Amino acid sequence: MSVYFIFEMGNAHNRLKIGRARNIHTRLRNLQTGNPTELLLVGWIEAADDNELERSLHKHFATQRRMGEWFEIEPADVQSVILRAGQQGFVAKNADAFKIIGYDKDAVPEFAGVWEWGDLALEECCPFCGCCCGIHFQEASSLYHCLNCDVLTDFEDVRF
Ligand SMILES: [Zn+2]
Repeated sequence: MSVYFIFEMGNAHNRLKIGRARNIHTRLRNLQTGNPTELLLVGWIEAADDNELERSLHKHFATQRRMGEWFEIEPADVQSVILRAGQQGFVAKNADAFKIIGYDKDAVPEFAGVWEWGDLALEECCPFCGCCCGIHFQEASSLYHCLNCDVLTDFEDVRF
């Protein structure tokens, strides 16, 4: 199972839920039903012992706990937690992830970003699957490779 992070948008106070689910997207839909405020998935962590992970995260943010599994924290607060999970950590992919916003000094395209909540470099997070194992340049093939979704790309095919 996974431990998910779901953020309630447009609230005067930040409200973020840390819970467990087998199917995160079904859980998100169910939570959204009857909630007038838009909920957005921030990310999730796959864990062998999701019970223990959830418990430790609830403890970690205990002082910001408001009601049940809801905490007064924002996506940036869980960023380091998700990144630390490495290959088990995932961020919900930004729809505009591949929009080119510029080029660095080596003419490598810079994208809008995987995560709509903050900046994550390609080495930190795969823009295809959102996995926090990152996407790394493979010398042998001269392509970028993700250990999680196994994508191999030079990013040519995702330019638009
Ligand atoms: Zn990937």
